Amino acid sequence: MDKKQPKIYLVDVTNRDGVQTSRLSLSKLEKTMVNMFLNEMGVFQSEMGFPVTNHEINYINANVELFDLGVLSPLVLSGWVRAIAADVEIACRQTNIKNLNLSISTSKQMIDSKFKGKYSKEDVISMMVEAVKMAKENKVNIVGVNAEDASRTDDDYLYQFAKAAKDNGADRLRYCDTLGYDDPFTIYKRIYELAKKVDMPIEVHCHNDLGMAVATSIAGAKAANDAGVDAYINTTINGMGERAGNADLLATILAIKYSSGFTGKYLLDEKVDLSKAWKIARYGSFAFKVPIPINQPGVGANMFAHESGIHADGALKDSRNYELYHYEDVGRGEPVIIETGRQITVGEYSGIKGFRNVYEKLEVEFKDEEEAKNILELARFANVHKQKPLVGDELLFIAKYPEITKKILTMVA
Ligand SMILES: [Zn+2]
Repeated sequence: MDKKQPKIYLVDVTNRDGVQTSRLSLSKLEKTMVNMFLNEMGVFQSEMGFPVTNHEINYINANVELFDLGVLSPLVLSGWVRAIAADVEIACRQTNIKNLNLSISTSKQMIDSKFKGKYSKEDVISMMVEAVKMAKENKVNIVGVNAEDASRTDDDYLYQFAKAAKDNGADRLRYCDTLGYDDPFTIYKRIYELAKKVDMPIEVHCHNDLGMAVATSIAGAKAANDAGVDAYINTTINGMGERAGNADLLATILAIKYSSGFTGKYLLDEKVDLSKAWKIARYGSFAFKVPIPINQPGVGANMFAHESGIHADGALKDSRNYELYHYEDVGRGEPVIIETGRQITVGEYSGIKGFRNVYEKLEVEFKDEEEAKNILELARFANVHKQKPLVGDELLFIAKYPEITKKILTMVA
């Protein structure tokens, strides 16, 4: 009997790995917008944050509420916690998070030099198992178990760890190439053998320290699929993440859709809508305050620019001479309009007249003065909260979901 062909799904970790990175941060409103855009783009899951961290409680609960309302749906919203039963208990008690990834180090390097004799290899497995059991007791839907530094973990121990996770009810194993140590060949071999033996879906989490995050991610996913299980690639918007970053969301999609060894052979989650790539990359760049490099795959300024004689001539005759995909495939082609004359913006000291003008341009009408004042007040708070001008999508979000916005903007100790 034919087994269904396994697929590749995307788990974006911008709101977790991206924001924990040195010098990078997003406000809770921006994190919410990232979830909205990921959902629009058909990304399977957003690792949305840290449910044990107190300042994330309202943000997480408000986003789960958006999921329950069908706004942030079908996006799977998940949280990251240490694989410690007590942390899982706190996460489930103080937030409504429905899906969790539980993380613990598995390499000899980290067990010896981070835990410093406090925990043995056996302890690490039993802590993880207790954490999985706690998640199951609390009715967590999807439980992923993360082997931190899996690429420097010995094969046999990694298998024992994965098997114990599976036997206790974990749904997926996250293979973390925490330091970007793997290459496409090593990760393929290791994940293929692991997936064949343990037979459970594998998440592939790769870093870009050696410039190979996308290559190792797709090699790992291919290995999982070849071994007969689904793969979940961890990505971030514009590749933002610890040190040299993670696998770039867009480049990963492009690689699966258009590279010679994948196109037509491996199945990417059919919900993924590549045409939203331009919008999410631009928003990520704005929110993180990190420009998109001129040579960025798909969304860089030079991606569809041709100048030298032979290239320009060839591209004009048939774009496929020098382009693997069309600019419209990644959501480009619309001219960007920049206001060069008078402009009214919304900020923390805005007044009602200017504010109404901005919303009129967005074609939002308020039912009365009361509602307009309420939304203005929220927009002012949002501006204080994010310390950047509010963009159209954020203003629309605030007007549409004022109660949820209030929650997102509220932080209590
Ligand atoms: Zn990471």
